[in-house]
Amino acid sequence: LGTSELGPEEEGLVIAHYGVQLDIERPSEPGSLYRCHLRANLPPLVTGDRIVWRPGKDDNGVVVAQLPRDSELCRPDNHGRIKPVAANIDYIVLVVAPVPRAHANLIDRYLVAAEAVDIEPVLLLNKTDLIDETNRDYLLDLLSTYRDLGYQVLTASTKAEHGLDAIKELLKDHTSVFVGQSGVGKSSLVNVLLPGVQAKVGELSEQTGKGMHTTTAAKLFHFPDGGSLIDSPGIREFGLWHMEPEDVLNGFREFHDFIGHCRFRDCKHEQEPGCALLEALEEGKIEQKRMDSYRQILDSLDQL
Ligand code: GDP
Ligand code: ZN
Repeated sequence: LGTSELGPEEEGLVIAHYGVQLDIERPSEPGSLYRCHLRANLPPLVTGDRIVWRPGKDDNGVVVAQLPRDSELCRPDNHGRIKPVAANIDYIVLVVAPVPRAHANLIDRYLVAAEAVDIEPVLLLNKTDLIDETNRDYLLDLLSTYRDLGYQVLTASTKAEHGLDAIKELLKDHTSVFVGQSGVGKSSLVNVLLPGVQAKVGELSEQTGKGMHTTTAAKLFHFPDGGSLIDSPGIREFGLWHMEPEDVLNGFREFHDFIGHCRFRDCKHEQEPGCALLEALEEGKIEQKRMDSYRQILDSLDQL
């Protein structure tokens, strides 16, 4: 496209990208798609990026600038380099379920990953129709642990159509991603919340069999009642990506008051005298199960 054929600069949103081409939406025209090229001097863009573009004569155009990001969802590539895969995300919705059973340690791992990218996690217990006397106490205790730590907690059942309005209300006016273990009901949730795009979601879930290094591009969808979802098989595996030991410590939000107050600067918080974390544990300000979880996640890093 020659510069003379292009319209004036305007803002746009990256809906998806395919190699050198991007699908750009004009915010005043929700659902519009313009197939655009990226001007050569620009850094790589990701789904969710806000940009400046110039429309062409047909449904095309050229992206000329990147606008600042509020947040980035990052993951290491095959060479260990940390790269953004989506931008401007407000909520990481961590979906858990009675079956497969939600484990605190896995939840903690996802929360650590969310804290590391500084995006607010929301815990969503799906499949509440499967709550019975064998798991009720366990699950209620689990949810109250995270509520007490200040996390937003929601419950839903896509099968019994329970709790969906509260989810829609929360996600409205925000951009979210759904993450969590396979089988907890992410596809089912996406299907009920995005009734029009079932086929596309189906395509996404079929590709999850490829394993940890799925590279399928992320796509942005709008919920009918407001808000957006960025989804891809790779994004759904967020939280199981590589992390640094420092991220693990910082990912336990109730530890923040005590980190940096230990007697020794290089305190490992194992059995050192004057360890502020261990004192907090003694005083009941940190729960034993969260401390155990912290150590378990730290140990598991060596095995990845
Ligand atoms: P994903 O792997 O996280 O995308 O999970 P899916 O959406 O594929 O769901 C896994 C299984 O759980 C499927 O058999 C769904 O029918 C089932 N499922 C999803 N939501 C619910 C629910 O609310 N209640 C029950 N009982 N089953 C559900
Ligand atoms: Zn310490």
